[in-house]
Amino acid sequence: MSAAFDPTGGKPGQVRFFLPGPVWVRDAVRQAMAHEAIGHRGKAFSDLYARIPPRLARVFRTKGFVFTTTSAGTGLWEAALLNLAPGRVLSLVSGAFSERWAQCARDLGFETDVLETPWGRPVDPDDVRRALGKTPYGAVTVVHSETSTGTLNDLAAIARAVRESSEAFVLADVVTSVAGSPVECDAWGLDFALSGSQKALALPPGLGVAFASDRFRARAREKSRAHYLRLSEAEAFAARNQTPYTPSTPHLFALDVQLDHILTETVEGRWARHDALRSRVARWAAERGHTYAPPEGARSWTVSCLAPRPGVSAEALVAKVKERGFTIGGGYGKWKASSFRIGHMGDVDLASLEALLAALDESAAEAAA
Ligand code: PLP
Repeated sequence: MSAAFDPTGGKPGQVRFFLPGPVWVRDAVRQAMAHEAIGHRGKAFSDLYARIPPRLARVFRTKGFVFTTTSAGTGLWEAALLNLAPGRVLSLVSGAFSERWAQCARDLGFETDVLETPWGRPVDPDDVRRALGKTPYGAVTVVHSETSTGTLNDLAAIARAVRESSEAFVLADVVTSVAGSPVECDAWGLDFALSGSQKALALPPGLGVAFASDRFRARAREKSRAHYLRLSEAEAFAARNQTPYTPSTPHLFALDVQLDHILTETVEGRWARHDALRSRVARWAAERGHTYAPPEGARSWTVSCLAPRPGVSAEALVAKVKERGFTIGGGYGKWKASSFRIGHMGDVDLASLEALLAALDESAAEAAA
C-alpha cells in the first residue's frame, strides 16, 4: 500500500461506524448509487457490466467465472447448494453463520451432517479428512471468517484436506474475508466462494458477489435445481454483459467505482491495511486485558471479537461507546452478553480506529459489570 493512499476517500480519521457489516461507505460510492436510471437491456448497462467481472476476478484471485446477484449473502448460500445439488453435505460448523448455512442445507432438503468445532476454535483440517474418510459427501460447506466469533479458519488447508481425501466440492463463505484478508480461489482450489457487498468490499448492502469453478459450472449445467440464482442463466447472460433478471443497477454503479478504488490500493495493499488494523486491536486488547476467544493465528482480519476484562460489561460498553458517537457490534447469539465485536473492514483507516479505541477506553471506565 502506498503511504499516500487514503482508504476513506477524503475522510481520514472520521469513520465512526465499526459494525462487522454493514460497514461504513465512502462518499464517492454512495454518490455513484444516485446515478440516473438506465435500462438493463441497453448498451449503457452492457458497457457497465462488462467492466465488473475482469476486476472482481482480481479481488477473488481467479481467472475463472465471477458474477453478481441482487441478493444478500444468504441467497448465495442457497445458490451454491441448489446449483450443485450435491446429495449429502458435510457442514463445518464453528459459530452462528456456519450453523445457519448448515440449516440452509437442511431446509433445502439436502441430507446434512455437521462436523462441529467449539465456538472460537478453528476447524481442524484433520477432522475434515477423517469425516470425509468415513462417509462420501457431495459438498463441504465452510465459513472462512466466522463473524460471530472472529475466528479465521485455515481455508487453504481445509480445501486441501477435502481435495486429498474426496471428490467433494468445496463451497466457501468468504463473506468477511474476501477483500480484507487473503482469499485465493484458484490457488486454494475452491469450487464456489461467495460474499456480500456490505462487508470488506465496503458497498451498501444488497449485492451478492461470487466465484464458481469450471468443475462447479459443468456440474451446475447438468444438475441445477435453482431458479432465481441459476448459474447457467447467469453465465449465458454474462456472455452478453447482462444479468438474467432486473439487477440493482445502483449497486453496480457503486461497485464499478469501488473496484477502481480497491485496485488502486491493490488487493495486497488492502490485505496489508486490514492486517495493520487487526494487529492494532490485538495490541490494544492485550494492554487493556480484553481477551479473544480464537487463539493467535486463527483470528479474523476484519472482525475482532473480544470478551471485556473482568469488571466491564460488554453490553454496557457497546452502549457507552455509542453515546460517544461510535457504533460497534455487540456479541452474537449465545455470546451476546459476554463479548463485543469491532468490525474493522472495508475503507476504515488506522486514525479512525485509534479514535474508536480511545473512546472505548473512556467507555470501559463507565461500563461496570
Ligand atoms: N456469512 C457470514 C460469515 C456473515 O458474516 C454474514 C452476515 O453477517 C452472512 C453470511 C449473511 O450475510 P447476509 O446477511 O448478507 O445474508
